[in-house]
Amino acid sequence: MAQDFNDKNAGNDATALQHAGGNFRVGRGLVGALEQSVTFETSDPTDFPVYARLGNTANHQELEAMLAALHHGDDAIAFASGMAAANAAYFALLQPGDHVLAQENCYGGIHGFFTSVLSRWGVEVEFAPVETWARRVRPNTRMAHLESITNPFCKPQDVARICHDVKSATQGRVITVCDNTFASPVLCKPLNLGADIVLESATKYLNGHSDVICGALIANKELVETIRNQARLIGGFLNTTSCAMLLRGMRTLGVRMAAHSANGRAFADTMREFKLVRRVHYGDPALERFFPAGFGGMCTVEFDPSVDTVAMLQSSKFIKNVPSLAGTETTATLPWWSTNRMQPDEEKKRLGISLQLVRFSIGLEDVRDIIADVIAASSN
Ligand code: PLP
Repeated sequence: MAQDFNDKNAGNDATALQHAGGNFRVGRGLVGALEQSVTFETSDPTDFPVYARLGNTANHQELEAMLAALHHGDDAIAFASGMAAANAAYFALLQPGDHVLAQENCYGGIHGFFTSVLSRWGVEVEFAPVETWARRVRPNTRMAHLESITNPFCKPQDVARICHDVKSATQGRVITVCDNTFASPVLCKPLNLGADIVLESATKYLNGHSDVICGALIANKELVETIRNQARLIGGFLNTTSCAMLLRGMRTLGVRMAAHSANGRAFADTMREFKLVRRVHYGDPALERFFPAGFGGMCTVEFDPSVDTVAMLQSSKFIKNVPSLAGTETTATLPWWSTNRMQPDEEKKRLGISLQLVRFSIGLEDVRDIIADVIAASSN
C-alpha cells in the first residue's frame, strides 16, 4: 500500500517532492487525474468537493499537502497569484486600527498593496529596517512582513533572529509573515525558524518554468483555517489546471535549486572580480547555516557608471530583460523600471536603487556562457 505522505514526515525534500500528497490522487494513474469540472454531484451536503472555487478538489489537496510537507507546516492554500495569497492573509487577519511592521524595501507589489490598499481600510503599515522592529512595536501591532531573501537586493536574512525579536517585544502576539519567494522551501523553511506564515509567489521557483501565475500560504492549522474560510468569500484560489501544472513544475524543484545555487554562486564570484562591476549582492557567509543548500540563482549587480545597463541587456545574446524571475533560463531586470517603479525616485535613490543596478535571475544554462555574455555586453 502506498505510504501516506500527507504529513510533516514526508521524508527529505527530494523524496517529498515526488510523493507528498499522493494519497489524494484521483484515478489509477501515476499522475492524478485533472478535476476539470467546476462543480460536483453530491447527496451529502457536507461532502467535498462541490464547487471548484472553494479550492477543495483532489488537485488542490494533493498540491496543498505537498506545499505543507515541504515547509514542515500543518496545512497550505494555493492561490491564483502570490499577490492573491498575500492579500488573503492580510485581509483575513487584520482589522481597522491595526499596525503592521514591514521590511523596508520589500517587493514592490506588496509595498503597493500595503500603501494603496490596506491604508484605505484603516491599517497603518510602517516600513522600517527589520533590525529596528523590536523598538517600533505598538500595542496594536498585529503583523510583521519580511522576506527570507530580499527583493531586489538578494540579501539573505536571519529569519530566526528577526522573528524571535519581534515576537519577544510583543509577548508573542505579532503574526510574522515571511515571503520566501527568492529561496523556495528547498533553501529556506521559515516556519522552522519561527515565522508563523510562509508566503510564496509560486510563479517563481516553485513552478519554475515561467508558465503559471500562482501563489501559496503555508502555516499551522488554525491560521490556515481562518484564512481559508475568509478567502473562500473573496475568491482567488488557484484553478485545478494550474494546480496540476504547478505540481508538475515542483517535481524538479530540488534539482533545479541545486543548479540555480551553483550557477548563482559562480556568476556572483566572477562578477565580484569584473572591472566594470562596483558591487555584487549575493549570499552571506554569516548566514550559511540557515541556507545549507545555497542561496539560489538571484544575484543583483551594481555596474560601473560607464556601463549603459539598458543597452547591455539589449545587446546580450541569451539574457532577456523581463520583470519576472526564477525560470529555467537566465533573465534580468532593472529594479528602477520594474519592481520599484512605483516608488518615488528620491526613495529609490535613498535605498540604493539606481539605473546601474541589474537584478539577474541565473538559470540552468552552462553559467560560463552567461558570464561571457554579460562581460561582452557590458564591455561594448
Ligand atoms: N513576492 C515577491 C518577492 C515577488 O517577487 C513577487 C512577484 O514578483 C510576489 C511576491 C508576487 O507574486 P505574483 O507575481 O505571483 O503575484
